[in-house]
Amino acid sequence: MILTVTMNPSIDMAYDLSQLKLDQVNRAANVQKTAGGKGLNVTRVINQMGQPVIATGLLGGRFGQFINDKLIEEKIAASFTEIAGETRNSIALLHDGGKQTEVLERGPQIALRERQNFLSDFKELLNKVDLVTISGSLPQGLEEDFYSHMIKIAAENNVAVLLDTSGRSLKNALGSTCQPLLIKPNAAELGDLVNQKISDNDITEVVAALKDPLLAKLKWISTSLGSNGAVVKFENKLYRAEIPRVAAISPVGSGDASLAGLAIGISLGKTPIDTIKTSMTLGILNALEAATGWVNPSKFTEYFEQVKVTEIN
Ligand code: ATP
Repeated sequence: MILTVTMNPSIDMAYDLSQLKLDQVNRAANVQKTAGGKGLNVTRVINQMGQPVIATGLLGGRFGQFINDKLIEEKIAASFTEIAGETRNSIALLHDGGKQTEVLERGPQIALRERQNFLSDFKELLNKVDLVTISGSLPQGLEEDFYSHMIKIAAENNVAVLLDTSGRSLKNALGSTCQPLLIKPNAAELGDLVNQKISDNDITEVVAALKDPLLAKLKWISTSLGSNGAVVKFENKLYRAEIPRVAAISPVGSGDASLAGLAIGISLGKTPIDTIKTSMTLGILNALEAATGWVNPSKFTEYFEQVKVTEIN
């Protein structure tokens, strides 16, 4: 069983406007409201792949209830800690032939008591699972090294953590004595870790950054590069994952789908190469769908066979 953590979930609202008109009324032709936040995208993909998963994090108010109801509808097991504040909304305006303008709320303020309640619920859940994924940003009121704290608690219970976050939360986790089993930066996030600019299509730069002594202690680093696939460090080996060219519909959430693939591969004890292939395949399948954090499992084998993973020096 995989436990997914979403500390700052949101109702993701996508408004389809053919054109965005500033300072005027815009009428949406189509509205989608989904249970969102990166961790819930990971959860949905693991569930669609038929693997056992349980979602946790913080939910509050009527919007929190909406997310709980959506998860029940999607038959996803969830055990969230209740908070007094209202869960946030994230708004995406889709307009002008493929453009996306987003409005993101910061989310509720978490009280000390709610922090303690969550950690005690988290400890309980660790008894039931063999792997944890943590995705996304922290809500207000939780300290910058909160994820490091969770990774330490998980380690005390012999459960490894896959961490997909950025900025100070990620730097903090890497500076801590107890490391995550895996991180999944994209090129920009990897660059941020080693203090240099790295572009999606410069494999040499990505390889050099992955050899940085700062990252030596990490067992897995999966650097996803959008349609360029990925470069992955596993122990002291580096792998290049090449993916087929596809007619992508919406790659938003492909990073989350690729983390779901890493979690599935690791929890099933697949080889590193098959784990990387599973990750790439789920990233591709998400890009082939309009919905975020959504895959069609019937296409899995077809694309899995087209992903090429080779060891590089
Ligand atoms: P996000 O933050 O939107 O979830 P990310 O930047 O973390 O994305 P990406 O590198 O964009 O993650 O995507 C993860 C994986 O998904 C890639 O390694 C690749 O396998 C697949 N993928 C992403 N974009 C495309 C695309 N346009 N076509 C095919 N596959 C894609």
